[in-house]
Amino acid sequence: MASKRPATTATTALLGVLGIVGTVACSASSGESAAGTTPASAPVSVSAPISAAERESGPGAPGIGDPDFPTDGNGGYDVGRYRLRLDYEPSSRHLSGTARIEARATQPLTGFNLDLSGFTVRRVTVDGRPARFDRSGTELTVTPATPVRNGASFAVEVTYAGEPKPVRGSSNLGTYGFIPTRDGAFVTCQPNGAKTWFPGNDHPSDKARYDFSITVPAGLTALANGELVGTPRTTNGRTTFQWRENHPMASYLATMTLGRFEMRQGRTPGGLKNLAAVDPKYRGELQHLYDTSGRVTDHWSTLFGPYPFSSTGGVVDDFPAGYALENQTKPMYGGFAPDDSIIAHELAHQWFGDSLSIKRWRDLWLNEGFATYAEWLWSEHEGRATAEQLFRRNHSAAADDPIWSYAPGRARADDLFNNSVYTRGGMTLHALRQRIGDPAFFRLLREWAAEHRYGNVTTPQFIALAERISGRDLDALFDAWLFTPRKPTAW
Ligand SMILES: [Zn+2]
Repeated sequence: MASKRPATTATTALLGVLGIVGTVACSASSGESAAGTTPASAPVSVSAPISAAERESGPGAPGIGDPDFPTDGNGGYDVGRYRLRLDYEPSSRHLSGTARIEARATQPLTGFNLDLSGFTVRRVTVDGRPARFDRSGTELTVTPATPVRNGASFAVEVTYAGEPKPVRGSSNLGTYGFIPTRDGAFVTCQPNGAKTWFPGNDHPSDKARYDFSITVPAGLTALANGELVGTPRTTNGRTTFQWRENHPMASYLATMTLGRFEMRQGRTPGGLKNLAAVDPKYRGELQHLYDTSGRVTDHWSTLFGPYPFSSTGGVVDDFPAGYALENQTKPMYGGFAPDDSIIAHELAHQWFGDSLSIKRWRDLWLNEGFATYAEWLWSEHEGRATAEQLFRRNHSAAADDPIWSYAPGRARADDLFNNSVYTRGGMTLHALRQRIGDPAFFRLLREWAAEHRYGNVTTPQFIALAERISGRDLDALFDAWLFTPRKPTAW
């Protein structure tokens, strides 16, 4: 994510010049607490293996185990694919649909939770059989007719309807989730707003594939992640768009942004599918968005390794969100024309944030520090300020600048998108580059992206890889830059 706020400090003023003030949020959980309700030593009878497991079974945890976001996500299962069949009517703001969630149990389950905010749930089935369900806050608790065995695949279908309500006024996060607009909706869900439009395991540590079938009034366009499947069909004045993202995706990156759009589709110079869409108010920006997104994606592919997904692009809607979000394959720009720096930022996230997703939100610098550093690399690539110059300008902030009192390696739940996570995170990478040299540094970026492609990552994993590739002990450097609440003096 990147926010486009007025610059207020020396540090943000520089970013303002670049057209971006970093702000991004994500949460992740280690999942360590999710399993383990069955003792490893549980006796298993050869003649009746199920009964032993079921004696130990219980409900899945109501949170996936992120210490800073304890009720986000859920324990006891792993989602493989969401099939979302949704209908939205902008005039009444009514959304109705069925979510089919295909998952695998990671413990014996007598019940489990899904995250869902608002709506009336009409029916829940598990493997086709009606299941009991209860609502409490944003937790939807499902009790299947028979327990789910550990390791078993199962499918939950939830039929629901109502008026989606975005999350508002959350600490330092602004408005996010499903946001109704004049002509449709702007849907950006970081860190935990997917629950405002579909039930699921709303935490980046449980990534899944997605199929979308979205029906809207004819004349409007519904945009989701991945690629369009077939041709949109219109019957009785309503058009259905089918999209498929066939690579694992964190829930906060899913979108169903819809409204009036002008589009340009084709391929990048490097041959990758490219789709740009803009609200008619921004039609003058369509070509720039299309061309720049293609050029940036191709360049990052040479620097970070092969593009992880099947298409690239970007969407400018007229909702004045004041931020952009790196929705997988389709970054969303909320109410402003993005310059090439912010496009470079959101597309770098396709590698760092989307393909490699954090397990815990406190490691958010792995997304935002990398995307901010990518802005500097793009600036240098374009013949403007070099990464070294941008590093030095940022590092010249006074010792009492707030950026130094916030340790970016531990993003705080109450201030997730702090400028330090972005800018000091980016400076951390430059300090590392200075220490280990360009060949090792850029090899590290490529190996990091390749080794954890489509997976989840943590800061200790990154530090370990940096030490392995460089052959150096880097603890002091990372301690000073990521974990110490004062200005690093040496690197
Ligand atoms: Zn970002």
